[in-house]
Amino acid sequence: MVKWTKVAVGLGSNLSNPASQLDEACNKLRASPHVLNFRCSSYFHSKPLGPEDQPDFVNAAAVFETDLTPEHLLALLQAFEKRQGRVKLRHWGERLIDLDILLYGNQQFNQPNLTVPHPFLTERDFVLLPLAELWPDVMIPGRGQIQNIIMQLNSRYVV
Ligand code: AMP
Repeated sequence: MVKWTKVAVGLGSNLSNPASQLDEACNKLRASPHVLNFRCSSYFHSKPLGPEDQPDFVNAAAVFETDLTPEHLLALLQAFEKRQGRVKLRHWGERLIDLDILLYGNQQFNQPNLTVPHPFLTERDFVLLPLAELWPDVMIPGRGQIQNIIMQLNSRYVV
């Protein structure tokens, strides 16, 4: 019997009308035979990390069920990035579309090409906030309740 696993994917873009890049990526994911019950968050605007001489980002999270293994899901996301015409000019630089696996069920693993939960998930509000909008009671494996992680992140900025 095929096993379907609930996963979360992060989406980001800061080139060529970022919102429409996110729309296109969401449409492709929603249409995939490997995706069920697809939901996408609102779009969040954020300042770039890394080089500051680049446009602001639009970010979102998507939650769905998939029958793909983590490795095959990563391959699917990378194929979508490539087909959409992803350009990567520099590290942490501008990008047409970036698709990351944030969560894969409640799994936690670290392989050379894939770390789950995503290594920066709990450090970035532009990833946590869209995910919390869709899945407010999600437990981040190894880190705890998403609402607590957001509170801890916010408290770092309070002086
Ligand atoms: P980036 O250019 O920031 O999207 O990074 C892409 C690289 O990160 C790829 O070579 C992936 O193999 C690796 N990677 C590690 N963990 C993840 C993850 N959870 N989701 C997506 N890519 C990942």
